[in-house]
Amino acid sequence: MSDQPSLQTVNPATGQPGKRYDGHSAEEAMAITRKARAAFEAWRRTSFAERGERMSAAAGVLRAKKNEFAQLMTDEMGKIRSEALAEIEKCAGNCDFFAGHAEEYLAREPVDIGGQKAFVTFNPIGVVLAVMPWNFPFWQVFRFAAPALMAGNGAVLKHASNVPGCALAIESVFREAGFPEDLFRTVLIPGAGVKALIEAPEVAAVTLTGSVAAGRSVAAIAGGALKKTVLELGGSDAYLVLDDADVQKAAEVATAARMVNGGQSCVAGKRFIVTAANRAAFEQAFVEKMQAITPGDPNDPATKQGPLVSVQARDDVHDQVQRSVAAGARLLTGGEIPDKPGAWYPATVLAGVAAAYTEEVFGPVASVIEAKDEADAIRIANSSEFGLGSGVLTTNIARGERIAAEELEAGMSFVNTPVRSDSRLPFGGVKDSGYGRECSGFGIREFVNIKTVLIG
Ligand code: NAP
Repeated sequence: MSDQPSLQTVNPATGQPGKRYDGHSAEEAMAITRKARAAFEAWRRTSFAERGERMSAAAGVLRAKKNEFAQLMTDEMGKIRSEALAEIEKCAGNCDFFAGHAEEYLAREPVDIGGQKAFVTFNPIGVVLAVMPWNFPFWQVFRFAAPALMAGNGAVLKHASNVPGCALAIESVFREAGFPEDLFRTVLIPGAGVKALIEAPEVAAVTLTGSVAAGRSVAAIAGGALKKTVLELGGSDAYLVLDDADVQKAAEVATAARMVNGGQSCVAGKRFIVTAANRAAFEQAFVEKMQAITPGDPNDPATKQGPLVSVQARDDVHDQVQRSVAAGARLLTGGEIPDKPGAWYPATVLAGVAAAYTEEVFGPVASVIEAKDEADAIRIANSSEFGLGSGVLTTNIARGERIAAEELEAGMSFVNTPVRSDSRLPFGGVKDSGYGRECSGFGIREFVNIKTVLIG
């Protein structure tokens, strides 16, 4: 029997309790981790072709069950139907991508040292513990899991406590796809239970996607145990709207960047830094476009904005808005909690700096900040503790490219389009947004033993 309290899901759109799941005890979680390690011992010796066949099968399972999995996300964390279906498709695409590219990314690299034969191999390291957030409950996990398993590793998933159904469904995908029974396992434990797993000899490394506080805590424990970590943490992405920007287009990109996943994305645009010449026109265009997005039933395929993840999260966002206004920010639209059950909050735009300037706002709230000129806009963008994504909105592509490539302190800088993750492009941050990369060849090489072999 489990000594871990059960996990009660709550539908964010209605506030009504959903399904309840039994959690795992600390002993059960440890036993599961040992089984994953045992499964890894055989898996590490499989060929890329064998692994790829199963990973492609996982893509097939995802596509076959996309409606069921999309519904789980909507019920557990409020994701709108269209984004939930797109997320499942993206996970399937990621499985296909790593099924097809892992061998090339991890191929032996010969090194010419002028005589003796030398080369580098990229060998699996063991079981990777993944601590994951609720906001993209499938994508965050598949983004890590597809490359990790293709590299020959095993995995134990500790998902966010509000999405236990998604966590178990993901485990089932790998089973149904024909992966060894215990190679990818889910443990339903609280954050406090992670320490024992990190310190267990069966765990080789840890990846965490979540808040800065969780990242600090997990990295400190992993550091004590001398285990590698990859951290994908929060962000307060800045978009520069330069003098030469097309204001309507800039407002369109800004709205899409801010409102993805109801505003609950690490790489959502959160600060829009506009040079003085365009500030008033941009504010007007941005407010119009934000007002056009109205919250509605997340199950309706036409809905563009759903609820936030929980009433608590909604109240936290509202508190940030109120503190910003008290500190002098202008409220241009939104900012009021509607009188109905569920975690609802409207698209909101603040102008001027305040709490929303330094803190990450994890909801549909944008800040417009005026800058004197390009240099001032870059300075403001870089003054954040975060450094995840960033954007430049300009009609001068060469200018945008220079600022994106050389000036912005971020792991990703996009010109004239919202920042997004892509299996082919490295994803990750600098400063308090974490370290390490996911996706692409850089991502798959995070959890391998980069081994030198020399033949004397
Ligand atoms: P969170 O509270 O940090 O939770 C993330 C995960 O960490 C959950 O599984 C949580 O478990 C666990 N956790 C929390 N505190 C822990 C601790 N002290 N020790 C061990 N595990 C702990 O974050 P969230 O609210 O779910 O997600 C929002 C945050 O994630 C935002 O800051 C967002 O920007 C960030 N995020 C970053 C990325 C990226 O790629 N950089 C992507 C998505 C989200 P419980 O649920 O059981 O507490």
